[in-house]
Amino acid sequence: ICDDIVREFSVRRGLFGKGTVSAVDHVSFDIARGETLAIVGETGSGKSTLARAIMDAPGPKSGRISIAGRALTGGRSVSRKQRGKLVQMVFQDPVGALDPKWTVANLIAEPLGAQGSLAAEEKRRRIAEILSRVGLSASEFGARLPRETSGGQAQRIAIARALVSSPDLVICDEPVTALDVSVQAQIIRLLFELKRDLNLTFLLIAHDLSVVRVLANRVATMYLGRFCEIGDTADIFARPAHPYSAALLSAIPPHPGDPVERPRIRLLGEPPSPLAPPSGCRFRTRCAYAQDICAKVTPKLTEHGPNRSVACHFPLTGVEAAPSSASTAT
Ligand code: SF4
Ligand code: MG
Repeated sequence: ICDDIVREFSVRRGLFGKGTVSAVDHVSFDIARGETLAIVGETGSGKSTLARAIMDAPGPKSGRISIAGRALTGGRSVSRKQRGKLVQMVFQDPVGALDPKWTVANLIAEPLGAQGSLAAEEKRRRIAEILSRVGLSASEFGARLPRETSGGQAQRIAIARALVSSPDLVICDEPVTALDVSVQAQIIRLLFELKRDLNLTFLLIAHDLSVVRVLANRVATMYLGRFCEIGDTADIFARPAHPYSAALLSAIPPHPGDPVERPRIRLLGEPPSPLAPPSGCRFRTRCAYAQDICAKVTPKLTEHGPNRSVACHFPLTGVEAAPSSASTAT
């Protein structure tokens, strides 16, 4: 769905000084219908920016995005209304994302407005149906305001709102991060069931790898605006080939299916300023495996086994010893 996406921001003043940040740098991927692709990375990796480039007009600075054969970018792109039929988004903070003055029923009805003249009765029926899908009853919640719901209920409402118009793609940006830990598992379970029962296509933006493991068929790791690695979730979790993926994964508890116990890899140093990313491989200043070539030649995302691509000059094979220069602990 995304081909060679570039998105830049001009920064006047701010955390990083002055200049241009290329938050997303030549990123390409596609998602099959019914599939969930997770994009994983630290804060500032560009994953939310990527989601925004898909969601919002005017879209990316360059590159092409299309969903279900319809172009979202370029001269013959779809209208705003049509875009809402193709893609909807679930945000991190459900309460902040819902207009506080609207009732739950009206919030959910809004995306249906773009579908021309649905009869009032049909609208009511669809709202009740989608609310029950997310585990809420229309008679109990339809007339409430967002502030009259809990965080978990508000996220269920936001999910219902995103799904009511049956979009081709649903982007979930950190859908459980802002919720109480006790509620997180319920929402993950709900997303899992919805995906299974309705054959939904999700782009999941996450830093929580346990969420990714449950929901995503494929995962892409992202660092300073570029993809490091993309492949099948189980495969990458078992054998990460990019040192950044390996570091992210070593931070979570091992899983019964994992072949070997991995040493904990801590990233070296601090993340560099996105205003002046390192030459060559952007991860090199924090990579324990970096060699001279890593500073000179940008590693391209290249095929590395079935359904897997890796952007690294020295992909891990899974048998190397813990790097001596890395800070490791068990
Ligand atoms: Fe590390 Fe070099 Fe691979 Fe970049 S290209 S991840 S610096 S080994
Ligand atoms: Mg974010």
